[in-house]
Amino acid sequence: MRFDYIFVDLDDSLMDTKKYKARLFDLLVEYGVPMDLAKSTYKQIINTYTFENQLVVLRDLSYDLPPEVLPKMFDLLKINYLLPGARDFLEYLRSQTEHLVLVSNGNPPYQQLKIDSLGIADFFDQIAIGIDGKEAVLEKFPADFSRSLFINDKLDENERVRGTFPGLMITGLINRKYWTTVDYEQSGYVVFENLADLGEYLKKL
Ligand SMILES: [Mg+2]
Repeated sequence: MRFDYIFVDLDDSLMDTKKYKARLFDLLVEYGVPMDLAKSTYKQIINTYTFENQLVVLRDLSYDLPPEVLPKMFDLLKINYLLPGARDFLEYLRSQTEHLVLVSNGNPPYQQLKIDSLGIADFFDQIAIGIDGKEAVLEKFPADFSRSLFINDKLDENERVRGTFPGLMITGLINRKYWTTVDYEQSGYVVFENLADLGEYLKKL
């Protein structure tokens, strides 16, 4: 099925962000930061997140983090956290629209760092990153939303996007951190375990 725009989310939709963040938090724990605090300080500054900013916050809390931690944080992104099948999936999406847009919520320079680490920027006609929610990012596009597709994992974000663009088709991978398959089904979303299955579903539309 051809779409006017296809909007694709980054974190946990194309990137194995859970695995990446687990490694980031493990690194901080190695240097004496409690796991809870590694996670909570990440969340606390999410709209301005950079590795440098998280270290500032932790040092302000009196954690003695040596200079070597920062390059080790950057080294984590030398590993490619692209989800299996992501390149084939993006190749297929490209064949189904003139406007393939990567949509992401978070601090732009940090999100860009993650995107660059995946090597997928060239698949997209545009990369749109914002800190006011995905619906605010989508609003900037002159799309015919009734003929467009939004691929995203988080159920609460999907609900807000659906509220703003009622005709927009929404599907994606399941995010088990917060929701079950039943939660998605009850809200009327079809979700998938992996990108290969999601791709097969889209091909049959
Ligand atoms: Mg996501």
